[in-house]
Amino acid sequence: MESNQLQGVAVIGGGPAGLMAAEVLAAAGVRVDVYDAMPSVGRKFLLAGRGGMNITHSEPYGAFLARYGSRAGVMRPMLDAFKPDDLRAWVHGLGIDTFVGTSGRVFPTEMKAAPMLRAWLHRLRESGVHFHQRHRWLGWTADDSLRFATAAGERRVRHAAVLLALGGASWARLGSDGAWQPLLAERGVGIAPLVPANCGFDSGWSAHFSEKYAGQPLTTVAIGGRKGQMVVTATGVEGSLVYALSAGIRDRIAAHGSATIELDLLPDWPLERLRQELSHPRGSRSMSSFLQSRVHIKGVKTGLLHEVLDKEAFHDPLRVAATLKALPITLRAPRPIDEAISSAGGVRFEALEGTMLKAVPGVFVAGEMLDWEAPTGGYLLTACFASGMAAGKDMLRYLMNPADAA
Ligand SMILES: Cc1cc2nc3c(=O)[nH]c(=O)nc-3n(C[C@H](O)[C@H](O)[C@H](O)COP(=O)(O)OP(=O)(O)OC[C@H]3O[C@@H](n4cnc5c(N)ncnc54)[C@H](O)[C@@H]3O)c2cc1C
Repeated sequence: MESNQLQGVAVIGGGPAGLMAAEVLAAAGVRVDVYDAMPSVGRKFLLAGRGGMNITHSEPYGAFLARYGSRAGVMRPMLDAFKPDDLRAWVHGLGIDTFVGTSGRVFPTEMKAAPMLRAWLHRLRESGVHFHQRHRWLGWTADDSLRFATAAGERRVRHAAVLLALGGASWARLGSDGAWQPLLAERGVGIAPLVPANCGFDSGWSAHFSEKYAGQPLTTVAIGGRKGQMVVTATGVEGSLVYALSAGIRDRIAAHGSATIELDLLPDWPLERLRQELSHPRGSRSMSSFLQSRVHIKGVKTGLLHEVLDKEAFHDPLRVAATLKALPITLRAPRPIDEAISSAGGVRFEALEGTMLKAVPGVFVAGEMLDWEAPTGGYLLTACFASGMAAGKDMLRYLMNPADAA
C-alpha cells in the first residue's frame, strides 16, 4: 500500500481521451501516471483502426457540430478548442499523414491506428508519462485513495487529482465495460444509463429468410430519403445506414416497444417509373424473374418482398411497386450494447463543472463515458480527443488553484 503518495495526477483509462489528457498534463510539467485495466492501452482505438479508421470529418464545422444532436451545445466549447483541422494537424505532428475520403471522412494514411498509437505512446513516454497496465480501478477507500486490482493484489494510491476516461460499455473485451457506473453513482454523480449507439437491431425474420439471407448486403437502399448500405443479419439488420439512424430507432423502441422503418429498395427509381415498368405484361415468366429483368430486383431484395407480402400481393404489380419504395421492417430491440460501436448515456453534463465532477472535486471526466453520442464518421474520436484535452486543461487550472473549481 502506498497511501501517502500524493505526487502528480492519475489518468485512469488509456484510450484516446485519457491519453490526450495525459499529453496535455505532461506537456505542462505535471507528473502523470496512466492506469489501465488491460495489458496494453488503446485497444478499442486499435480495433477502430482495423476497419479503416475515420479520425474526423471534413464537412463544414457547423454541420460537424450538428452531429452531436442535443449535446452540440455542451460539446461545443471542447470542440471549438480542438476542431477537426486541429486534430488533423495533431496527427500530422505524430508523423502520420491524413487524407479525405470521397465521403468527406478523414483517415490516417494506410487507414490504420497502430502506427499512430505507436508514435503517440513513444512521445508520451519520452515526455515522462508513467504507464501502469493491468490496474483495474475499483473505486476509492474511505480516505479517498484510489483502489486498483492488480496481479499482486489490491494497490492503493493517492494523487493530487484524478482524470477518469474509462470509455462506454461496448466491446467489453477491449477494456471498457461500464463497471464505473456504480462507483460514481455511489458518490452522488448523475449518470444516464449506458445504452447501445451505432448499433444493429433485431427484427424477427422468418427462419427461411434468416437462413437464406443472413450476411447479405443491401447495397444502396434508402430510409427516409437517406441513401446508404446495410446488411441483413440472422436476427435483423446492421450496417452504416442503420447505425446512422440508430439513435432515433433506439429511442422509438424504448418509447413504443418497436419501430418500423420503411426501406426504399430502389432509391434511384421514382415510384411512377417503377409502376410503368411493372405494368408491362409478365407473360409466362415467374414474378421473381419478371422483377429481375424489369427492375433488377433479385436475391435478398426479392426475399424481403416475400417476407412482407403475401402470395396475392406479391403478384400485384402496383403493390410490389409501392413496397419496393417503402418496404416496412419492424425493429423490436437494439442488439446488445457489447456489440455496438459506441455507447450513449454516461456522466450527465449537469453533474460537471467544466469537466470536473461537482460531487467529487478534483476528479475530472472525459471521452465516451460522458453523456453524448454521435454517428460513426470520425465524430466519436474527435469528441474523445477534444474532451480529453479539455479535461487535461481543466485539471491544470485546478492544480494551480484547487479552491477555484475548474
Ligand atoms: C469496432 C469499432 C470501430 C470504431 N471505429 C471508429 C471510427 O472509425 N471512428 C471513430 O471516431 N470512432 C470509432 N469507434 C469509437 C471509438 O473507438 C471510441 O469512441 C473511443 O475509443 C472512445 O475513447 P475513450 O478514450 O473514451 O474510451 P476507450 O477507448 O474505450 O478507452 C477506455 C480505457 O479505459 C480502460 N478502463 C475501463 N474501465 C477501467 C477500469 N475500471 N480500470 C482501469 N481501466 C479501465 C479500458 O481498458 C480502456 O483502455 C469505433 C469503435 C468500435 C468498437
